[in-house]
Amino acid sequence: MITLSASSEKALKKLYIKTYGCQMNVYDSERMADILKPHGYELTDNPDASDMIIMNTCHIREKATEKVYCELGRYKPIKKLREEDGKPFILAVAGCVGQAEGGEIVKRAPYVDIVLGPQSYHQLPEMIERAKRAFHARQENAHDQKKLKELKKDPIVYADFPVESKFDHLPQVSDNKRFSAFLTIQEGCDKFCTFCCVPYTRGAEYSRPVFDILEEAKRYIEAGAQEITLLGQNVNAYHGTSPTGSGEWGLAALCLELANLDGLKRIRYTTSHPKDMDEALIQAHGACEKLMPFLHLPVQSGSDRVLKLMNRKHTVSFYEDIIHRLRDANPDIGFSSDFIVGFPGETDKDFEQTIGLVERVSYGQAYSFSYSPRLGTPAAALEDQIPEAVKKERLYRLQSLLFAQQLAYNKSFIGRTIPVLFERYGKKPGQFLGKSPYMQSVHVLSNDDILGKIRWVSITDAFETSLQGEIIAEQCFLGG
Ligand code: SF4
Repeated sequence: MITLSASSEKALKKLYIKTYGCQMNVYDSERMADILKPHGYELTDNPDASDMIIMNTCHIREKATEKVYCELGRYKPIKKLREEDGKPFILAVAGCVGQAEGGEIVKRAPYVDIVLGPQSYHQLPEMIERAKRAFHARQENAHDQKKLKELKKDPIVYADFPVESKFDHLPQVSDNKRFSAFLTIQEGCDKFCTFCCVPYTRGAEYSRPVFDILEEAKRYIEAGAQEITLLGQNVNAYHGTSPTGSGEWGLAALCLELANLDGLKRIRYTTSHPKDMDEALIQAHGACEKLMPFLHLPVQSGSDRVLKLMNRKHTVSFYEDIIHRLRDANPDIGFSSDFIVGFPGETDKDFEQTIGLVERVSYGQAYSFSYSPRLGTPAAALEDQIPEAVKKERLYRLQSLLFAQQLAYNKSFIGRTIPVLFERYGKKPGQFLGKSPYMQSVHVLSNDDILGKIRWVSITDAFETSLQGEIIAEQCFLGG
């Protein structure tokens, strides 16, 4: 859960955005702020002092929808208080819950002004104008119950998939001042894994043209970004129109082109599907120094039978073959993955196969969850749902193994010297937090302000989720 921080307190109107879920939602929140800036909205990190609240929601986690209603209840008094002063206060639900629930949100929480899906945020200014008009109409007809009822019949819900791409409507100037920037290159998914709601909430797979991506990357680099993470629900399915318009480029060609941009030191991409790891992309991990040696490659299960039930479209041996080829291309590469335990029909034998896979691959990080049904997905209707107690026990075993691997991976860095991009101040005086090429959080003490700089760090200690080190050279190096 991430809250965008305020860049200035001088704005005419204050916008508070609460972001849930993945980096793609963080990117979307930043773009929504970009879109609303020319309309007089500036970010605040204080919802009580805001004129508009956008909840940018995520549908992946358990009970996501209920949590949204719960949070909305917290914002309701703020809206009431502000509107008693005779000024419109706009409450919007964006993101995947907005897409999935649509008008249901306004039915259950009638004080919500706007509901929008992830493909519609470029239409926010028009929605806001409608919401303001509706507010003034309610004010004027405050004593006419019949008219008020009429007005409620036209909720502002933009949860369809528009024909035009939202990317064509984004402002060319972004407020993104991160040293490490996110850049969405692809959205949606055509894979239809049986447990996942993304194909229903984000729509069909769509890749942005190479030219647009390069232009956006240049803007981020100009604003200080040293690292760019290319985002997509199925990022390595990328197939964008080439700069000449004569064909399509895959992700490998895009990464190699980005690597030519002066000032950019690091490139990452997430999230990948094993089936789309083509040979060119595997080889790019050996050939491109700026492509960071750490890859998130979800597998979900170590059982072919469960992978089939999940409609993952690959086998365990196919996945392991990719891991081996990536290690051949770059022996230094580390991996993270996603696992679901207790998928409907998962037997003890299937689960042991997942443990076996984890032991063979050995991960530097991983995300693991108990299966929980998502409304409307095929797996939710499968028989043979696994009892919660069994899921809990399996998850505990898997996580114990993954945490042990993560600690061992981090400890293997003690005594190594690695380049670290420093992105934040730490809690202690003189402490800085940065990121290693392998996605580890690294903390050091420094008398110089090293924010936004890459420094070589000798690793002196390692923990489950971070490394500790000392800067050994006060000069800037390429990442990786
Ligand atoms: S590939 Fe990823 S985004 Fe697409 S359906 Fe499967 S889990 Fe969801």
